[in-house]
Amino acid sequence: KQGGRGTFQFYASEMNERVAAHRRLVDELRRGIAADEFFLEYQPRFEPRSLSVVGAEALVRWAHPEKGRMAPCAFIPAAESSGLILPLGEWIMRTACMQAASWDGDLRVSVNVSPVQFRDRNLTAIVADALAQAGLPADRLEIEVTEGVLLEDPERAQVMLRELKELGVSLAIDDFGTGYASLSYLRNYPFDMIKIDRQFVSDIGEREGGRAIVQAILGLGNAMGIAVTAEGVENAGQLASLINDQCREVQGYLLARPMALPQFAEFLVRAQQGEEESEIIVPAAG
Ligand code: C2E
Ligand code: MG
Ligand code: MG
Ligand code: MG
Repeated sequence: KQGGRGTFQFYASEMNERVAAHRRLVDELRRGIAADEFFLEYQPRFEPRSLSVVGAEALVRWAHPEKGRMAPCAFIPAAESSGLILPLGEWIMRTACMQAASWDGDLRVSVNVSPVQFRDRNLTAIVADALAQAGLPADRLEIEVTEGVLLEDPERAQVMLRELKELGVSLAIDDFGTGYASLSYLRNYPFDMIKIDRQFVSDIGEREGGRAIVQAILGLGNAMGIAVTAEGVENAGQLASLINDQCREVQGYLLARPMALPQFAEFLVRAQQGEEESEIIVPAAG
């Protein structure tokens, strides 16, 4: 009994420590948002054959004064559970639209939107205002959502997605294939784009049936009239396979890493001069 009690006290104190750490992170987030410590990086997306840039995904980072640069996985969950993703997400949307309006050419910007933001009645109004303030045409904005958005409240999700669609923005389903939603949702929601999760892309040429799964998703997209992007393309073999299987767009470290705005602007200039081409040698797909 004594030992059991000691174990309980151990777990209890560990849990208290976790709760306290979470609270500190939430306080830090609140302070960081007020102090404007967040910034966006952009990861280019390409047409796979020509390797011309078609757009970029905005990815948030935190320039923390003590901890340095923090990845979204270190703070997005706490931002979601505390509700701070609402002000942070609004800042991300406004900043991405503003910055994309300054890019050369009519590239698309993709913004990740959390399920928590989807529960917020103001989302459509915020997106409309962000576009108007930036002077960005709606068809240059793509909103990425994960299946979590659809699972929580399918009817509400449907209303929100239709409202957003009416603004003229495009809608992408992110991390496709990793959640638990039934595939039939693709019929019920107005998605323009499927993003194949990088887990499936990394299985191409690595695991038995890896390529077959990607081909099945490409076939599904094709049958439903939904374009497909592959994320997490890391080697030329994967790219060759995706080209061969008619994937619409590709994104991944092989082609370009996420970059802060000044580097991304330079990248676009070089890409337009054609210097980014011919760097990647694509082998013939087997
Ligand atoms: P995601 O939306 O699926 O974004 C793709 C992630 O894969 C990014 O990680 C990107 O840097 C990484 N990535 C891209 N190409 C490759 C590759 O070739 N190999 C590997 N190993 N990774 C690659 P990041 O920036 O750490 O973001 C992680 C997740 O955090 C995102 O996944 C998204 O769910 C979330 N997130 C990022 N920015 C935002 C944001 O502004 N708002 C919200 N709500 N969530 C965000
Ligand atoms: Mg994404
Ligand atoms: Mg993804
Ligand atoms: Mg992800």
